[in-house]
Amino acid sequence: MSVSHYFDTMDYGPAPESDSEARLWLARHADGFGHHIGGRFTTAAAHFDTAEPATGKLLARIAQGSAADVDAAVAAARNAQLDWQALGGHGRARHLYALARMVQRHARLFAVIEALDNGKPIRETRDIDVPLVARHFYHHAGWAQLQEREFADQAPLGVIGQIVPWNFPLLMLAWKIAPALALGNTVVLKPAEFTSLSALLFAELAVQAGLPAGVLNVVTGDGATGAALVAHQDVNKIAFTGSTEVGRLIREQTAGSGKSLTLELGGKSPFIVFEDADIDAAIEGVVDAIWFNQGQVCCAGARLLVQEGIAEDFITRLKRRMQSLRAGQPLDKTIDIGSLIAPSQLERVRTLVELGVKEGASCYQPAIDLPAGGCFYPPTLLTNVHPSSTVATEEIFGPVLAAMTFRTPDEAVALANNTRYGLAASVWSETIGLALGIAPQLKAGVVWVNSTNLFDAGVGFGGYRESGFGREGGREGCYEYLKPRAWAERRQRVAANAANIEPAAHEPRSATGLPALDRTAKLYIGGKQVRPDGEHAQAVFGAAGQLFGEVGAGNRKDIRNAVAAAHAAAAWSNATPHRRAQGLYYLAENLSARSAEFAARIAASTGVSAGAAQAEVEASIQRLFSYGAWADKYEGTVHVPPLRGVALAMVEAIGVVGVVCPDEAPLLAFISLLAPLLAMGNRVVIVPSERHPLIATDFYQVLETSDLPAGVVNIVTGASDSLLQTLAAHDDVDAVWTFGAKARSQAAERLSAGNLKRTLVDYGLATDWHDAMVAEGPAFLRHAVQVKNIWIPYGE
Ligand code: NDP
Repeated sequence: MSVSHYFDTMDYGPAPESDSEARLWLARHADGFGHHIGGRFTTAAAHFDTAEPATGKLLARIAQGSAADVDAAVAAARNAQLDWQALGGHGRARHLYALARMVQRHARLFAVIEALDNGKPIRETRDIDVPLVARHFYHHAGWAQLQEREFADQAPLGVIGQIVPWNFPLLMLAWKIAPALALGNTVVLKPAEFTSLSALLFAELAVQAGLPAGVLNVVTGDGATGAALVAHQDVNKIAFTGSTEVGRLIREQTAGSGKSLTLELGGKSPFIVFEDADIDAAIEGVVDAIWFNQGQVCCAGARLLVQEGIAEDFITRLKRRMQSLRAGQPLDKTIDIGSLIAPSQLERVRTLVELGVKEGASCYQPAIDLPAGGCFYPPTLLTNVHPSSTVATEEIFGPVLAAMTFRTPDEAVALANNTRYGLAASVWSETIGLALGIAPQLKAGVVWVNSTNLFDAGVGFGGYRESGFGREGGREGCYEYLKPRAWAERRQRVAANAANIEPAAHEPRSATGLPALDRTAKLYIGGKQVRPDGEHAQAVFGAAGQLFGEVGAGNRKDIRNAVAAAHAAAAWSNATPHRRAQGLYYLAENLSARSAEFAARIAASTGVSAGAAQAEVEASIQRLFSYGAWADKYEGTVHVPPLRGVALAMVEAIGVVGVVCPDEAPLLAFISLLAPLLAMGNRVVIVPSERHPLIATDFYQVLETSDLPAGVVNIVTGASDSLLQTLAAHDDVDAVWTFGAKARSQAAERLSAGNLKRTLVDYGLATDWHDAMVAEGPAFLRHAVQVKNIWIPYGE
């Protein structure tokens, strides 16, 4: 026998990981787990069974959480929160460090429990999930240590409700609880019904590692348990990872409650291969992108986009590689593909693949052995996929790759962005200029260049568009668990006195008794003054109740036109920061030239003294200067994650933002909301104070003499509440900001759920617009951008 014969015929023998320690732990809880509340397991009233997905065998009995259980857990978390916060950064750093060490000490047990409970290969839980969990606690121990210095102007939120899915149960737990605990919050965590075990093990071992009772509480159960946590009055924030459908529901349910919210939702991420890519590396990339964790990955590269010239060769080689993938029992160390999570998910994947074939796709599945029983599904490649077909648009959440081709880089970008999601993307090309030119054009929170599925605790992760909002990891992830101290001190605003706002009872008359010349201020859309669509005007009264003029009563169509104009001004988002700064300084200069006129208008309109009015104009000029200054200074960072390479955290404009202004400080509030958005490259549709709109319409002249491109700022006057509703429900608006009556915040958050737009609202709390600590700076800038992390490994 020759050596080559052995090489050609060699096969894997069985290499099972021992499950004895895990089985002993499960046996200790054979009577059924309780919830983990206040540092100990409770006795549960009701249980459900959890099975091994790979065999269907019973694994454990898990407590079904009721509203009362959630209540007890929230009470325990609330009880513990002040002491935990008072422990200080260093104290908490030591606890997080202890948790990281605890995870490392029990790494094998965690890896086995996770593989048994989820069905994923032990190779992945052992080499990816668990090490990343430990890294997350170490990294956040560091943020706790530095909190008093790095986040001195921020305070913890309080009690956090966290809901995680089944695809990475322990890793998602770490992503959620490490930053929350590090920064002084306490937690109630609801794991997914299918995969509660690693969270219960973690809670038990965390107590042994000295974590104070009540700081981390775990309530198990199904969606109803999650819903009870979302609805709980004493929870300050919900952090959710899961489906877009449930995320949208949570957005609606928490609207107006004042609960902070982050959503990490679904995806349909593109995997783009240019013809100059390293093909072998890209093929291995595909394997990691879509067959890692059986494709049950929110950021899975589920849409393969290959440049036409290499498509045939690429697909042939990919099929060959698929034949060498090994499916098998999760605890076998030699397998690539384990079991899907549950029969329902297996059925969903089957149905979607069948639908794809019906819609015209060709299906390739390699002839590999699948274990009998369990929820196994083969790696699947769909070719001849139309970009609008179901398998190209729906999140399948299984080992199914939909392949399409493109000709030019522009077409690749258009196809890649042709999705309602925006979680991640991979770009493969050996030409650095091409890859780095494509990355900023992709609407995704993470872009991997010549790589895929890279994660690190120091590099933020999170979506654009309907993949959700908020970031996990890194500095930006910390802000999700903090609030500005200056904002925490805001009080409920005093209700506006509407007594002197009356409907126009008469035509405006001049002193001569003749009808006055038409002084109806128009709307400002696309750089032009335009009449409102409805041809209606509404009266504006001065401080003394005198009829002061009229403004256009904008309606739904005017908003539509303004949004279209803002979209057409997309070049502003790509303008250099220097250019944007110049634009803001120029606005300040023009406003300064007219300051006396604006001061007189403010005094007459609002009734403040001439001095106060002048001070408001002066503060507005200063604010424009401040954001001109920030425009080229609020910028990204370079992360150095544990790989040979870097991750560029780029701050990008959100897009088109709708703003509805409050009535107080009508010029200063208007500028304070507009300027940070412009500085960061957004285009704006702004509704000025309903009560004092003439101050904004006077601003047209300032805009007209400035050098801002048409459509960057659009002003629609009229009834704030109804204009807000139109903006918040508009699918082409990417974010909405509103300050003013409390009901407006509720409406904005509720209606934003449609396309999951980002929101900045004040819940009816009064902002002192003259106080720069409250009304200016990074707190606003953070809401004016989204962070995109571009991973660039380097070296041969
Ligand atoms: P869900 O969004 O339903 O579940 C995520 C978590 O939310 C689970 O803990 C779940 O509880 C809980 N939950 C369910 N309903 C509610 C509710 N009304 N209020 C509060 N919490 C709730 O995802 P599924 O697990 O059902 O998966 C369905 C699809 O979602 C998948 O096929 C996949 O496409 C997608 N998905 C996306 C993920 C991502 O990371 N982007 C992760 C998981 C799924 P429980 O599971 O116990 O019922």
